[in-house]
Amino acid sequence: MRFNLVRFISLLSLVLIISSCESGAGHTVKNLQELQQALADAQPGTEVVMANGVWQDVEIKFKAKGTEDQNVVLRAETAGKVIISGQSNLSFSGEYIEISGLVFKNGYTPTSEVISFKTSKDELANNSRVTNCVIDNFTNPERFDGDTWVAIYGKNNHFDHNSLLGKGNRGVTLAVKLTTEASRENGHIIENNYFGPRQVLGSNGGETLRVGTSHYSRTYSNTIVRKNYFDRVNGEHEIISNKACGNEFKDNVFYESQGTLTMRHGHHTLVENNYFLGNRKPNTGGVRIINEYQTVRKNYMSGLTGHRFRGALVIMNGVPNSPINRYNQVIDSYMDNNIVVNSDYIQLCAGSDEERSAIPIGSTFKNNLILGNTNPEPFTIYDDVSGIEFSGNVMNDEAKAPFTKGFEKVSLDLSRNENGLLVPAQELIDQIAFGEVKLPVSKAEAGADYYSKDGDVKPFGSGETIAVAPGENTILEALEKSNPGDVLELQGGEEYLMTKYAFVHHPVSIITAQGNKATVRSEKQSFFKIENGGALHFANIHFDGAESPDQAGNNVISTSKYSMNQNYALVVENCEITDLDKNHSFDFLKSYKHTFADSINIINSIFNNVTGAIMTLDMEVEDLGIYNVENVRIENSQFTDVQGAIANIYRGGTDESTFGPIVTVSGVEINNSGKGSRNKVDAALRFHGVQKLKVDKVDFTGSAGVDLFMTNGEPITRISNVNFRNSQGLKTNGEPYQSENIVSTKK
Ligand code: CA
Repeated sequence: MRFNLVRFISLLSLVLIISSCESGAGHTVKNLQELQQALADAQPGTEVVMANGVWQDVEIKFKAKGTEDQNVVLRAETAGKVIISGQSNLSFSGEYIEISGLVFKNGYTPTSEVISFKTSKDELANNSRVTNCVIDNFTNPERFDGDTWVAIYGKNNHFDHNSLLGKGNRGVTLAVKLTTEASRENGHIIENNYFGPRQVLGSNGGETLRVGTSHYSRTYSNTIVRKNYFDRVNGEHEIISNKACGNEFKDNVFYESQGTLTMRHGHHTLVENNYFLGNRKPNTGGVRIINEYQTVRKNYMSGLTGHRFRGALVIMNGVPNSPINRYNQVIDSYMDNNIVVNSDYIQLCAGSDEERSAIPIGSTFKNNLILGNTNPEPFTIYDDVSGIEFSGNVMNDEAKAPFTKGFEKVSLDLSRNENGLLVPAQELIDQIAFGEVKLPVSKAEAGADYYSKDGDVKPFGSGETIAVAPGENTILEALEKSNPGDVLELQGGEEYLMTKYAFVHHPVSIITAQGNKATVRSEKQSFFKIENGGALHFANIHFDGAESPDQAGNNVISTSKYSMNQNYALVVENCEITDLDKNHSFDFLKSYKHTFADSINIINSIFNNVTGAIMTLDMEVEDLGIYNVENVRIENSQFTDVQGAIANIYRGGTDESTFGPIVTVSGVEINNSGKGSRNKVDAALRFHGVQKLKVDKVDFTGSAGVDLFMTNGEPITRISNVNFRNSQGLKTNGEPYQSENIVSTKK
């Protein structure tokens, strides 16, 4: 029989049409083996479709070569319905590969990257794209076991419309790596992504985006980062760490994010038309210039509170002949035509010290509109600014300009424009040719279109109220039933006993709503254990140690003994704590290593007769700049006969990447406390490396005193209205601090 070519081709096309109909224009695979086989066989134009469902413990690794017209595609059957969980990751190399629609959650990578544009050191991906994917809290349970969520290598890659949110462990969220020549001058485009909430890490290593590393910082990356939306990314003080030459950051929005876009290393960076919206949230910053030929123009800053390196506009001093990992001098750099409203700090020659003595030269600070009423003196000038040309800047009458030359004064006139942004008079905007004041990208336009950007924060009191009857383990039963944000309401004046640990896995409030405080006791070493994801709010509760076991080292609240990758919070208000005296070292709050509190507040509470400490937050002893708590407030409270420290807060090391700890002690009485033989710190209040400290209206009677060790980072320390009656006084390591009305008396 003669081979009929025409008939064969028509049959073949029919088969192709049918098969493409069947699989939705691709080859659908249902498990890792099928997936790897399909990818190994992939030709230009091949589309491999991952079936919807949960893919557990899959390390997808493939090499493929598509062409410009016919990519090799790996995609979800339905975008957002392929969930990659467990010990999983994705790495690929080759040419013209496109990956879309995948969601990584409920797990973490066993390697150091989740999505990697390489399969080995020398096998990189080029001309490839990752789009419409999500990585959500795909966080290593070990907080300081670092990884990078997305690592881009190779050249001409495109990372767009992805959502990256909830990274809890150490490591950059997205990094452009320049490790080999083949990844330099890369022309990558990173755009329209949603970088969602990232909690405070409490250490260096919490950057959201980094391009390059100090080692390769004098080479060109030529990466474009545009139209991304950074939403509450609070990892550390560098939101973006630029560490290579030739990059552009344009049209990005930074919403209520702590830290700055930092030009840490590398030259020839363009930072243009970015919007920084602080909404007066703490530590929100703008742009920091270091190095040469940097251009910062036409950016909009509003409601930024960050100080020092995290100001709205910052130009640093450099190190003469700086080694590659220190601070290059600022040369020929421009900070012009920016709008800065209601933002508190502009810092020039920041970081000036014996080492960082090279002042900026050949630079300009021109045509900036700096208007607002939040800080009448926004400029801080740390050194000689003769190498910066000032002209055409505008400030309002009430504010203090650093010089008369180069600054024009106008009356303050800010209003919301049709885009909802606070703006000065149009003639001023026109005067600097800023153009329309409008967000270049909205939250809705950024990220994977199918994935929520609401975040999952459940504040205290946001849930249901659950009535808890008095008696044995009723609190435990209610806790078990509770959902995040619920309120357990105890009966006034009644007694509650727990014979088992109360594990707390989500935010919950425990309160007495009416009448006298309910009394809570426990037969276990800890009353409550805050596990990963947990947070506790107590109001109007009486805690009593009478039923606690007769053994050393009890506590009312303990963190997990293991690393926590989710920050916790603790609020204690209108509570009374008595007789934590079963055996020695009975603490109120006991924290463990690699746990971190966003906030600990003790308000209007009374503590009597405690053989341990009230709070010990000194578990990170290696002096790596890691610590255990960001914000502490102790207010309007009394402590009597506490043998250990009232607060022991420790942050060691010389790292400058973090904001905290931030501590306020105000309206507090400390009586006969801090003097127990087992109090290892010989103080009632011990603050080591606290970055912002306010101690005001504190009375010590017959107690140990204050031990203040101030470290790097120009900590802000204010001590006022403190009485040491028959007590040890204030001990410091000799660094400067502000003080007023500190009195010591003996009788
Ligand atoms: Ca950093």
